[in-house]
Amino acid sequence: MDYISTRGASPTLDFEAVTLAGLAGDGGLYVPSVWPRLDRAEIAALAGLDYVDTAVAVMRPFVGGAIGDDELKALCAQAYGRFAHAGVTPLVQLDRRHWLLELFHGPTLAFKDVALQLLGLLFERFLSRRDTHLTVIGATSGDTGSAAIDALAGRAKVDIFMLHPHGRVSDVQRRQMTTVLAPNVHNIAIEGSFDDAQAMVKAMFARPDFAGRFALSAVNSINWARLMAQIVYYFYAAVRLGAPDRPVAFAVPTGNFGDVFAGYVAARMGLPVARLIVATNVNDILHRALSTGDYAAGPVTPTATPSMDIQVSSNFERLLHDLDAAAVPGQMAAFAANRAMRLTDAQLTGARPLFSSARIDADEMSLAMRWASERAGQVIDPHSAIALAAARAADLPGDVPVVTLATAHPAKFRDAVERATGIRPSLPARVGKLFEREERFSLLPNDLDAVIAHIAARATPAHGTSA
Ligand SMILES: *Cc1c(COP(=O)(O)O)cnc(C)c1O
Repeated sequence: MDYISTRGASPTLDFEAVTLAGLAGDGGLYVPSVWPRLDRAEIAALAGLDYVDTAVAVMRPFVGGAIGDDELKALCAQAYGRFAHAGVTPLVQLDRRHWLLELFHGPTLAFKDVALQLLGLLFERFLSRRDTHLTVIGATSGDTGSAAIDALAGRAKVDIFMLHPHGRVSDVQRRQMTTVLAPNVHNIAIEGSFDDAQAMVKAMFARPDFAGRFALSAVNSINWARLMAQIVYYFYAAVRLGAPDRPVAFAVPTGNFGDVFAGYVAARMGLPVARLIVATNVNDILHRALSTGDYAAGPVTPTATPSMDIQVSSNFERLLHDLDAAAVPGQMAAFAANRAMRLTDAQLTGARPLFSSARIDADEMSLAMRWASERAGQVIDPHSAIALAAARAADLPGDVPVVTLATAHPAKFRDAVERATGIRPSLPARVGKLFEREERFSLLPNDLDAVIAHIAARATPAHGTSA
């Protein structure tokens, strides 16, 4: 499989190169040059397969010979063997037509584990054949950092340096990062905000001497392999609800548009998807873009769903490219200059048959949490509740099953859940010892040169181990 940039000005890469690369050199995101198709018989044949075999069948065309089927299966078995549920991503019925797809049974209790557990293994596999050492750098406000650290801890030929704002992530989130004591994991608490930490990471990538010496890499959701791993559970859920003979709708709590774009890819591959419901909180840039065509960033309002508090949705560019590729470079230049741009008619009419969107406020979110708890006996997290509220409000034929993606375990956001439902979810036993474990992190000033010096003293150069 060949991968091309959404901006059209970067070299074509294969799967291995695209996994290690992250962002394209022209500022765009990599996408497959064609969408592979599964025909009706191939989709029907997924029924009865377990998660790992489904993953191999869905991802095989994207991996395109870089990894053989047996090895891909072994990697998936290792990645998903760490999930605490035999079904990996089980479906739970809420009422006659509404279902929850529980994506939070991984080691750090958020859906990001589904993709990052596999990505960590892919990194190790590809680096083992190269004379290269990788240094992953990231900034986190919570979920991504813990999932990336868990996925990369102890892996050969890769170090991870994760910056978090000191005192501004929850105790659970901090401990999920700082109690991982593997020697290749480096937690840095910055005396500043998340935006300060994020700006520092960007500045490090912009220093060619530093970035080149240590082969800096990123694991945020612009990485194609992460999206690829998320396509799997759309197929897995839909065939359990009657696909390919019955179309299924999905409601997705959306921030960076990675998760819902994976659903779009599933539809492009031939899965009968009745609707993709893009659910946002009050930070509603995507809802405005899909309903009016205006993609305009505003200020970010902090909410009870921090993983959806965004003003720029990186993966949206992949959809725009698929619907009208020629327009994208100009649109992105306009957005960089004005923080605003317009979708073309081709993009709007192309998105309309499949996508709808909804903006869910704090009251609607709480109501959805209460409904799930009182009517269906399910305690759900605030992010999942945003999607469930959108699912229940969607205008769809009555015989279409609606699957709400549950992206975080309720215990990860215990305070918000307790406020809405009166129930305080307890942490699952597998992470219950979190508060007894030793923590390790470095506290650094909000100063780029100090952070770079700290990393340079601990990271391994890209080629060879001695200077
Ligand atoms: C990251 C995240 C999201 C948003 O997913 P995107 O792929 O960025 O749209 C939603 N819910 C939770 C709990 C998350 O961690």
